[in-house]
Amino acid sequence: MPSRVLKKFIENAKSFPDRIFYTTEIKTDNGYESLELTYGYLDIYSARISGYLENNLNSKKPVIVIGHKHPYLITSFVACSRSGRAYVPVDSGFPAARIKDIIEAVEPELIIITDNSICKDSLIQNNSAIQSIDITDIEKIISKEEYQDDESTWVNGEDDYYIIFTSGSTGRPKGVRLTSNCLDNFIDWAVTLREDGRLDDEKHRVYINQAPYSFDLSVFDLYTSLFTGGTIGAITKDMQSDNEELYRFLKRMNPNIWISTPSFSEIALMADIFNQELMPNIEEFIFCGETLTHKTAGKLINRFPKAIVVNTFGPTESTVAVTGIIIDEDIIEKYNPLPIGIPKQGTYIYIMDEDRNILNDGEKGEIVIVGDTVSSGYWNNEEKTREAFDSMTVDGIKYRLYHTRDKGYYKDGFLFYCGRLDLQIKLHGYRIEIEDIESNLLNVSDIEKAVVMPEYIDGEVNSLTAYIVPKNEVISTLKERRRIREELKKYIPEYMIPRKFVFRESLPVTANGKVDRKKLEAEL
Ligand code: AMP
Repeated sequence: MPSRVLKKFIENAKSFPDRIFYTTEIKTDNGYESLELTYGYLDIYSARISGYLENNLNSKKPVIVIGHKHPYLITSFVACSRSGRAYVPVDSGFPAARIKDIIEAVEPELIIITDNSICKDSLIQNNSAIQSIDITDIEKIISKEEYQDDESTWVNGEDDYYIIFTSGSTGRPKGVRLTSNCLDNFIDWAVTLREDGRLDDEKHRVYINQAPYSFDLSVFDLYTSLFTGGTIGAITKDMQSDNEELYRFLKRMNPNIWISTPSFSEIALMADIFNQELMPNIEEFIFCGETLTHKTAGKLINRFPKAIVVNTFGPTESTVAVTGIIIDEDIIEKYNPLPIGIPKQGTYIYIMDEDRNILNDGEKGEIVIVGDTVSSGYWNNEEKTREAFDSMTVDGIKYRLYHTRDKGYYKDGFLFYCGRLDLQIKLHGYRIEIEDIESNLLNVSDIEKAVVMPEYIDGEVNSLTAYIVPKNEVISTLKERRRIREELKKYIPEYMIPRKFVFRESLPVTANGKVDRKKLEAEL
């Protein structure tokens, strides 16, 4: 079946073409410039870019779309879907080496660049098999290329809708493939996360977007809003580090629905001005991606007495989120840690032991997701796909199954999260494989061995420490730390760079020769 999300978007664009779909503010030399896109223009522009793709490309290979919150980024996503191609969103803040890894893995025919600070030649070099277009090209295409698509060209059923690259333990990111069916099934549920029935397009709502579009949390606000005729107010990286601008933008948007990581709301909560008066229309805070603490949920309920707080849980590998629960005063009083909810319709969640036996209520084990939003696997990576994915038949229907490596348990019918079974962490909302940082540290000159340890405060990762064994003598100076930090930035995003660097002549090892992480942990 052609994408139901796209179908609903086209209907919305016909019903209210002048409604703003997307607003953001981009920092320029003269302050912040507001950029907007209506439903009508998103429809016309995406159809024209989609026409360009159909007329100029030879294959249906995924298209890489690079940028940071520019309206053409979103327009390009919709264009890809209308032309039956998956898109691969890449944030322009990623280091060039990381973007090149993604290009190498995808082998695209086209890269769309919606950020003028990105130099296409440095990414593609002399590879004549890859075409690219930038903002100037997009403006030419949307001003003249005429194209009328119909549902027959759209992404459909089990076609990939998007591929999101996440941190990989080998030091190279891995691409998670989400199909059109996955997205439709997710949105069917996402609009029900309310006390008073479904979100619909009878009321025009404003959504806050925080996550960059290269993270799957952004799928929540982008498609829920598109589906229900909402308006998105997208917060850029610059706004996130500029309190005055952030609160001004929030006041201007006066949102109804807030979707972010708990970490971001904790930053917003630091100033008393973040309260019901700043956002009088706020109805709902939706969280995903990391632990929502008791403290944060309690503060939000106090500051926003008219809004509800929803905790959801899920990995990119199962389309954003698969459980949800409204956190009210009753739940806060009864549970600490807070529950992550009950499985959505079409999803079955089991707790399994290491031998993959299903455990009983109260027993802790791996959270295993079975259902209609599970990814079809990792892009071009059969080995990793085989390790993490499987299938299971429930009530006569065969579903894909994903081993999350998250640890959890059921209690009172609710699912609870209690850590990881591997070295993946969440730091300020970002998903990071510790081994990803470690193997990229070995790309930095003069490093023989490197181990990275997370430091926890109140059960949450607060910072990272890298233990380094240099190839030559130990030089524990500020200058050396700065050199390593700068070199490492070429390979991994800023949020993955350890806060502390400790130089050692050797690292402790266990009886079987592995680095003794427990011993290092004791030193933190
Ligand atoms: P991502 O693929 O970036 O969405 O990260 C998925 C991982 O984030 C999950 O496997 C969990 O480890 C963690 N996570 C997601 N939602 C929650 C939540 N509500 N509470 C605790 N951890 C979460």
